[in-house]
Amino acid sequence: MAELGNPKNTIEILNKYKFIFQKKFGQNFLIDTHVLEKIIRAADITKDDFVLEIGPGIGTLTQYLCENAREVLAVEIDKMLLPILEDTLSAYDNVTVLNQDILKVDILSLINEKNGGRPIKVVANLPYYITTPIIMALFEQHIPLINVTVMVQKEVAERMQAAPGSKDYGALSLAVQYYAKPYIAANVPANCFMPRPNVGSAVIRLTLHKDSPIKVLDEGLLFRMIRASFNQRRKTLVNGLNNSPEINLPKEDIIKGLTALGFSENIRGEALTLEQFASLANYFSSL
Ligand code: SAM
Repeated sequence: MAELGNPKNTIEILNKYKFIFQKKFGQNFLIDTHVLEKIIRAADITKDDFVLEIGPGIGTLTQYLCENAREVLAVEIDKMLLPILEDTLSAYDNVTVLNQDILKVDILSLINEKNGGRPIKVVANLPYYITTPIIMALFEQHIPLINVTVMVQKEVAERMQAAPGSKDYGALSLAVQYYAKPYIAANVPANCFMPRPNVGSAVIRLTLHKDSPIKVLDEGLLFRMIRASFNQRRKTLVNGLNNSPEINLPKEDIIKGLTALGFSENIRGEALTLEQFASLANYFSSL
């Protein structure tokens, strides 16, 4: 039975080990059993699953994962948490804790070694200071993934899920939606954590596309174009692309490309869908 996940037991274990929260590691531990159950449900964890947990903390979510998954690999940067995890996870034989920085681990080799290269699920209450680098690292390293279900800052979840025309739409929306389908499973208030963060949170599930809906000849060019258009959000797409040191295209060609695809030359990047960005990238890469 999972034992943490309520304020009383969390305080007890923190006191037992005289644990001191490290702000620099984004440590806000979950103390609400309903939220923990919601995360497990949103990720659709079953006894078939191999789960990578990023930042187990004192093992609160890890206990729920051990109860529901086949195997759990938890990567934690703070070595002060290791004796605590040994204690709180002692009842489980399907968990491995690795004391590493997730941004420095070769996740692909690790998964190949531990799960024979088969696809995994990632579940985490993420340290908010590195949300985007963690998610992009999982996607860009082509880790075999079924889904990624994570607690993130509410505004970040909204940006990941945003569609063209909304104020939250930007490079993060396009980057995430290129790889996965986002779904916000729950909004989570600050009082569900200890200590309370000074932002709202949300659980978002990113389900990886089996077959990418986007056919793009040059992925690198697509992402350089996306970055260039949103770096200068108030500029037209023509000027955004033309001013970017990452893109080497004469202005006439950019205008020709937009016209060929039926866009006005005054259009802004924020009006384009991912498919339209991909068509434009394909036009430029076949020049
Ligand atoms: N999973 C726990 C929970 O829900 O109560 C803790 C979540 S807390 C928001 C984030 C955790 O990530 C902390 O335990 C922190 O030490 C860990 N962490 C921070 N940076 C990390 C990194 N670069 N690699 C691995 N873990 C990290």
